[in-house]
Amino acid sequence: MVDSARSKNAVLRITQLSTELIAALRAHPRRVAAGVGSALLLSSAGAWALVEAQPQLPPRATVATVYDAGVAAQTEAIASADLHYANSTTVRRQDTVQQLLKRLGVTDPAAVKQLGADARMRALVTAGATPEPVRALVNAQGELLQLSATLPLPAGDSAVPLWRALLVRAGQDGALEVSTTERQMEVRTRLANVPVRGALSTALGQSGVPAAIGTQLVKVFAPQMDLRRSLRKGDQVALVYQVHALDGREVRPGRLLAAEIRTHGTTRQAVWFAASGDAKGAYYTPAGQGLEKAWASSPLPGAKITSPFGMRLHPVRGIREMHEGVDYAAHIGTPVPSVADGRVKFAGVQSGYGNVVKIGHPGGFETVYAHLSSIAVKPGQAVSEGELIGKSGNSGTSTGPHLHFEFHSAGRLVDPQRMASYVPQGKPLPPGEKAAFFAATAVMRTQLAQAAGGGDAAQLARAD
Ligand SMILES: [Zn+2]
Repeated sequence: MVDSARSKNAVLRITQLSTELIAALRAHPRRVAAGVGSALLLSSAGAWALVEAQPQLPPRATVATVYDAGVAAQTEAIASADLHYANSTTVRRQDTVQQLLKRLGVTDPAAVKQLGADARMRALVTAGATPEPVRALVNAQGELLQLSATLPLPAGDSAVPLWRALLVRAGQDGALEVSTTERQMEVRTRLANVPVRGALSTALGQSGVPAAIGTQLVKVFAPQMDLRRSLRKGDQVALVYQVHALDGREVRPGRLLAAEIRTHGTTRQAVWFAASGDAKGAYYTPAGQGLEKAWASSPLPGAKITSPFGMRLHPVRGIREMHEGVDYAAHIGTPVPSVADGRVKFAGVQSGYGNVVKIGHPGGFETVYAHLSSIAVKPGQAVSEGELIGKSGNSGTSTGPHLHFEFHSAGRLVDPQRMASYVPQGKPLPPGEKAAFFAATAVMRTQLAQAAGGGDAAQLARAD
């Protein structure tokens, strides 16, 4: 029944499944031997045998039995035929424990009922993507013999990701025992030197750099340049990044630690650093200049300017006077964010301004947001760049819904459209963090130099 083409497939499948089967053999030598026995009855392939999945099982399920059995064991095996199915699947969006078990070939109602009510199994299906497939060993009656999976735990204080190993085992009496153990992922550092020949994503893919690292890279340099569009053939990208491994296998990408872009004769570098009390961290130049833009270009980028800064005929009072800000067209209720980190100086009603918010920013800058329909902040409150401070409206002296925005530098009014030439380009290192920054990024800078100088040979070299 096993022809030569299928035998080849069989060997392939046997190779893939051998680990599970060896484990199964250790756990249940008698039952596996039994399965082998029945397979041997159907096959002339000797010590290697394969039986295709039975039709009621999911198509991915394959029964494979590997055994180099003596005649005595085979004879014993034939007496109690019982096949084992080593199945695996991944957790899907909006999975239930029942659906997961069904895909694994578990049909035993008692197992489905017990595990469906188990909090740890429920945590598994709500955890989303797990680093490894969920594996199960099931017998021909759809009874679960063993199930193993990993699920993420909240990072907490740990710098390395924590995972919980979940194991379900059938005891002697057939009852299922669920146990969990905490495991730490191994964090590895990798270097890559990526010669650009076409699209950046293709170049990264050909060098084995995970797509998620490419996404981080594009984001890091986004305030300076659009890497997806501006790289040309002959440019070079060097990377230092982390991958997370479980049991020696790399299961998911980690963080981009450092990057260098060589394009059009210029070199740009970025290193990651977490200042004390900031686990998220940020990217800086090797000299410590922040790469993340500290100031947005405007509170409503892309909104039409209906009245610029400067002298104008006042639309309500009908006299020539200074327009102290810029008016942006905005529907009532448009969310208005702060253009930079700062502290609220005033939030309330002020004559012609209507509902107005004034924010003081480091470096002696102040921004004003007027004619708001609602205010979302209180005086004295710290706000971050991009944080909602209110919604646009038509309050105060106003001819229609719009946002009036002012920018002050050292107490003097400045045209908000020229704001970028006054404010710092990147977020600076927090005060007192310089020494820590150079110490923490020294290794990364060395690795980046290695990656950048190594040519193609440096591709995917292990740095740990
Ligand atoms: Zn105005």
